[in-house]
Amino acid sequence: MSRAIYLYNTSSRLKELFKPIHEGHVGIYVCGPTVYGDAHLGHARPGITYDVLVRLMRNLGYKVRFVRNITDVGHLENDADEGEDKIAKKARLEQLEPMEVVQYYTIRYEEAMKKLGVNPPSIEPRASGHIIEQIALVKQILENGYAYESNGSVYFDVAKYNKDYKYGVLSGRELDEMISNTRELDGQSDKHSPYDFALWKKAAPEHIMHWPSPWSEGFPGWHLECSAMSAKYLGEEFDIHGGGMDLLFPHHECELAQNTAARGKGGVHYWMHNNMITIDGKKMGKSYGNFITLEELFTGKHPLLQKAYSPMTIRFFILQAHYRSTLDFSNEALQAAEKGLKKLFQAVRDVNGIQAVQGAKDNGEAKIYEDIYDALCDDLNTPVALSHIFEAVNIVNRAKDKSIQVSPAGLVILKKIFKDVLSGILGLEDEQSEGVGADTIGGLMDIILAERQKARAAKDWATCDALRDALGKLGIRIKDTKEGSEWSLE
Ligand code: ZN
Repeated sequence: MSRAIYLYNTSSRLKELFKPIHEGHVGIYVCGPTVYGDAHLGHARPGITYDVLVRLMRNLGYKVRFVRNITDVGHLENDADEGEDKIAKKARLEQLEPMEVVQYYTIRYEEAMKKLGVNPPSIEPRASGHIIEQIALVKQILENGYAYESNGSVYFDVAKYNKDYKYGVLSGRELDEMISNTRELDGQSDKHSPYDFALWKKAAPEHIMHWPSPWSEGFPGWHLECSAMSAKYLGEEFDIHGGGMDLLFPHHECELAQNTAARGKGGVHYWMHNNMITIDGKKMGKSYGNFITLEELFTGKHPLLQKAYSPMTIRFFILQAHYRSTLDFSNEALQAAEKGLKKLFQAVRDVNGIQAVQGAKDNGEAKIYEDIYDALCDDLNTPVALSHIFEAVNIVNRAKDKSIQVSPAGLVILKKIFKDVLSGILGLEDEQSEGVGADTIGGLMDIILAERQKARAAKDWATCDALRDALGKLGIRIKDTKEGSEWSLE
């Protein structure tokens, strides 16, 4: 690979040079959604972050196998292994089969991701389709002595594990502190300790999702699916495991402990975590009344929204912040992003109208191109990469108003920045010319304006006006100047 990529590894708390396990091949696993409700803002950030990571790596020549799972069983209402399964509850309330709930919300999630320009993963495994692998993993952990059976359920023995390895290394927690912060068991629990977690749960009679196992008719613990499916599709040792910061503890901590207890090694070389989104400075949550689904954002139908925001506005907005920083959503910030994006795509369209000039001096195009890649390879620094892309926009604007000239080589680079980086890696597409590329629109406009120019020369004002009006109805504005006509999208 020609370029070095540096990634912040949650495990070491350092930015590290990325070295793949297998030369030229990268395995990435990201925890996907629990499909019991519509995709919301919280799904957009990891969706887009790891999409950019995969696109960047592919652009640099790596072959990437990207696995993003669908959680459709075992995610209980609280993290302490209590409460109802989120999907089973939804199914009970709506009188549906659990798999109907799963199918419905999986499709909705995938549609929302597609609108956001997030490419589908290479493999999208479901937890319920990997019960056999999960049971095998529980058996292995039991056999190695890091789990115990209790009334038909199986729990991970955190204290035992902590003696041989260390529990809490990923999230930087100490078991002693966790113990003092955990409430005492109420005596009803099958667990030996409150911080032990379920590998297998015996299903209560009213529980509608259950499978046979050596221990009981039951279902797997939530953390188990990712340990089982990542190993199945990427191997017991793989390159990158990603997810939201909210999954760091307990989910990823438990995954790491399970991997180590079963196989003697954590198996993940780089752990990546995207930070959270806040809304007007507050945490997003149903109880705060600021829970916004992606559908509501795209349509503007939410009391907190002043208007609808397009998927690309959301994507651009998210990429304007580094993935490890928190990001605050507000109408003002989204409208500013909308303006910035409009400016960006005007330049993407205008670059096709620029005539290169032989011998024109260097405007720094090649340096901008290098700077963009340097930023992206520096732990996906998308805000810095975007600021360099705006330097390219600036060159296009100045070339358009003829205050500078662009050399043929410079023009090739500017087009490459918009095509390979802006669209190819950052996944930002011009929504106003959806379906056809900006090149096509530019080419069509050249043809139409040439015809109109002929009509102007022949003083055929009726044709000129008719063309202008027809284009106006499509949101294309024509401005006549001495040199000819210019066009822009409204
Ligand atoms: Zn997971």
